[in-house]
Amino acid sequence: MSTTLQTPIEYLKGVGPQRGELLRKELEVQTFGDLLRYYPFRYVDRSIIYKVRDLNPLTQYIQLKGFITGFRQIGDKRQKRVVATFKDNTGEVGLVWFQSADWIMKTLKPGIEYLVFGRPNLFNGEYNIPHPELEPVSEAVEATGGKGLQPVYSTSEKAKKKNLDARGLAKLTRVLVEQLRERDVPEFLPPDVVQSFKLMPRLDALTNIHFPKNETLLNEATRRLKFEELFLIQLQLLKMKANRGEVSKGFLFEKIDNKFDRFYKENLKFELTGAQKRVLKEIRKDTLSGKQMNRLLQGDVGSGKTVVALLTMLMAIDNGFQACIMAPTEILANQHYESITETVRGLGVEVALLTGSVKGKARKFILENLAEGKIHIAIGTHALIEDPVIFKNLGMVVIDEQHRFGVAQRAKLWAKNDYPPHILVMTATPIPRTLAMTIYGDLDVSIIDELPPGRKPIRTVHRTDHDRMRVFGFMKEEIAKGRQIYIVYPLIEESEALDLKHLMDGYESISRAFPKPQYQISIVHGRMRAADKDFEMQRFVKNETQIMVATTVIEVGVNVPNASVMIIENAERFGLSQLHQLRGRVGRGAEQSFCILMTGDKLGQDSKQRISVMCQTNDGFVIAEEDLRLRGPGDLEGTRQSGTINLRLADLALDGNILEAARKTAQKLIDEDPGLTQPAHQPLLKFLQETSRDKTWSKIS
Ligand code: ADP
Ligand code: MG
Repeated sequence: MSTTLQTPIEYLKGVGPQRGELLRKELEVQTFGDLLRYYPFRYVDRSIIYKVRDLNPLTQYIQLKGFITGFRQIGDKRQKRVVATFKDNTGEVGLVWFQSADWIMKTLKPGIEYLVFGRPNLFNGEYNIPHPELEPVSEAVEATGGKGLQPVYSTSEKAKKKNLDARGLAKLTRVLVEQLRERDVPEFLPPDVVQSFKLMPRLDALTNIHFPKNETLLNEATRRLKFEELFLIQLQLLKMKANRGEVSKGFLFEKIDNKFDRFYKENLKFELTGAQKRVLKEIRKDTLSGKQMNRLLQGDVGSGKTVVALLTMLMAIDNGFQACIMAPTEILANQHYESITETVRGLGVEVALLTGSVKGKARKFILENLAEGKIHIAIGTHALIEDPVIFKNLGMVVIDEQHRFGVAQRAKLWAKNDYPPHILVMTATPIPRTLAMTIYGDLDVSIIDELPPGRKPIRTVHRTDHDRMRVFGFMKEEIAKGRQIYIVYPLIEESEALDLKHLMDGYESISRAFPKPQYQISIVHGRMRAADKDFEMQRFVKNETQIMVATTVIEVGVNVPNASVMIIENAERFGLSQLHQLRGRVGRGAEQSFCILMTGDKLGQDSKQRISVMCQTNDGFVIAEEDLRLRGPGDLEGTRQSGTINLRLADLALDGNILEAARKTAQKLIDEDPGLTQPAHQPLLKFLQETSRDKTWSKIS
């Protein structure tokens, strides 16, 4: 980075030690460069001057031009305020200050034409503008160049007290921007990229993002800086991916003539869907490439990811390797264990379950057999990646329902063997493309976009507390037909006790409406011991109970094909992807399935929107996009732990096109010049070496 941009912020004209301290502590602005990247969050159009008579209750901010005709002081000493009467040729309005009355009255002069900018208040039927920004027209023209858009920066209360309000920050930024030269912020994007995307040069963009001369220039500056931001992230991810391919040799799974083959011919009870076959081909290609596979498998709930995972593990076993599958909860690990043992029966595949609750001798036995290579498939929770677990020859790792596993845990797996195993990550919920490219941008992506044949789409309806009796009636009809029902309650960690109370209250009222012995009810929640949870779950799986009352512990993976009704209580408290996940628990059998979203009568706009999306579509990819649009990427599950998303300008919900372009550009660059050795790429290499914290771009690598 250029010396100018690394200069500590206190050395900027107008800052000094005191405000420097504030900038550092309050706004995390340490250097000139940080201030330059402290972008405005919006702009106000100062080119438009309104009249006093334009004031109306909807006015947010307004700019007026006129004269001060007098002052009044109101209130006693302790609550003194000063009101200036401000006039233009259409009327008058009060400007109010609650502080510094003397200074205000001394400084502001009648007879000078002022520009006033502020947020009007309606008080006792009259408009006034508290603490307006005010400057003589002559100076204002000079400060803004007499032109258009002014930046608004976010700031803090403390900073405001030292004049570091939006305006104060704008002044400092202007000082900085005016002294910037091309050499301080040299263009680092290759010339052909700048040309083909018609990108604004870097210096111009950094100037215009703060002080746009007009809307067009602002848009161009924003586009350029978003591109730059996304491009740098993609370049980093793709470089990581390329490096891994070079550094880590991948195990070769050449043979599939034994267990894989036999499973396919003898054990598999159905024809794979076209999408499943395609994904298997992709995996097969990876495991023959000699490079380590890092693949993300996306598929909607019920699309049949498990059998793909199993076939993949059989490829490993046929070649003398062990495989493991990690699930986010014990319940899911159990379920995988049971269904996998069942489906591989007769093939001579040794499967073991290793979770936190496998203890003592049983655990020791499993650990020994894993180390000796006698166990082919280990199934477990994250207990599997804890250090004492040693495999003889781990060749394939499947991570089910990825978003519970952070990037750090993924990294641990890479260190599990001399050569890292192939990794297949399966997501519980489809992720929007833009997000996948960013969080999992270093992985290859496979998509199962087809459900097994014969599935009836789940019917989803919205019901409120008023309809409860009707809902109970419906439940009784379904149970009479032999179906089973889930009732799910939200559980939000912060108020666990309260949530548990809701759940128990709900359980009681359901118990009253569905009395024993005619009806049997299971209950599962987070406070129960794992063994008890499992016992209750098993009763439901075996159809000994007709209703399962649960918190979201059943959210992912659980498979009870006979359960055909999903009732979600307080549905407004769930996010879209969670609702979709839960709904995916039904619709797995041949029967018509239903999802009933229960809410109170009053719903906020966002909740309404979510519920209506759920009632309209069953498509997980559509729902994921909608989720991103409604919540923004910051809130989406998986992004918080990911640490990769820290975007200043770009918005993954809105900037999909720019992201696509940035990724393509980065990919092309990595393909053509992975070491960035060509002359045209030197500025980029230099920039990366100066700015990236890791060693990816160091000269040695
Ligand atoms: P998910 O992708 O949500 O993990 P699963 O792997 O649990 O889905 O599959 C859901 C159900 O569909 C399972 O009962 C599985 O046996 C069944 N299934 C998977 N693939 C097919 C197929 N090609 N044809 C018919 N049923 C299938
Ligand atoms: Mg699954």
